[in-house]
Amino acid sequence: MRGPRTYLRACAMAAAALAAAPAAASCAGPFQFPVEDLEASVVRQILVTTRDEIERFFDFRFDAFCMDEEEYGAYYDIRGNTLVVGVQFFLDVANPPGNINRAIGVIAHEAAHAFQTKHGLLDMLVETNPHRVKCIELHADFLAGGYMGWRARLYDVDVTNLTEMFYDLGDQQMQADGHHGLGAERFLSFRQGFQTVTDNEITLSSMGIAYVSQAKCD
Ligand SMILES: [Zn+2]
Repeated sequence: MRGPRTYLRACAMAAAALAAAPAAASCAGPFQFPVEDLEASVVRQILVTTRDEIERFFDFRFDAFCMDEEEYGAYYDIRGNTLVVGVQFFLDVANPPGNINRAIGVIAHEAAHAFQTKHGLLDMLVETNPHRVKCIELHADFLAGGYMGWRARLYDVDVTNLTEMFYDLGDQQMQADGHHGLGAERFLSFRQGFQTVTDNEITLSSMGIAYVSQAKCD
């Protein structure tokens, strides 16, 4: 099945995949290749630039930013410190023309997991509710919103288009361990981050933790 739910599953499974995946500092998967090798020059340029901006915004560096011809979704691989985006998934999210910021919003959400990892926030956020990944996910939505809000100062970003997407990414599986949040919760968390005007990633993250805490993640 293709669609936002598939993305959610891939995102939720990212943490589980870490234990099994071999350590890799490059695009090691059998169907992976570096973004720099993309043939479509416009898309390549956008993604290379986006990576650079996200790394500066969140103050970290990925070891690699990979496209994957088999993966349908996007995820952050902790062991390889690698951001992976499915080729077809990217094309579907970014189309029709004008939706490139949707794809960048998804990439920013995955990059937020890298930020959380760097700062040891995964355990801390899980402790708030040990049985669910929802705190982590809503915090990542908040951080993605903060990045897209920062980006909106430089580029034409349609926030309504983005909040609609985060709403659609919500799921109803409230009892499941992989529950990311209801559509309304994800939409609100993203929008709250978007409206938080700061280019200091630590400040943004702290505000996101405060927001997620009052949302209680359940
Ligand atoms: Zn996520």
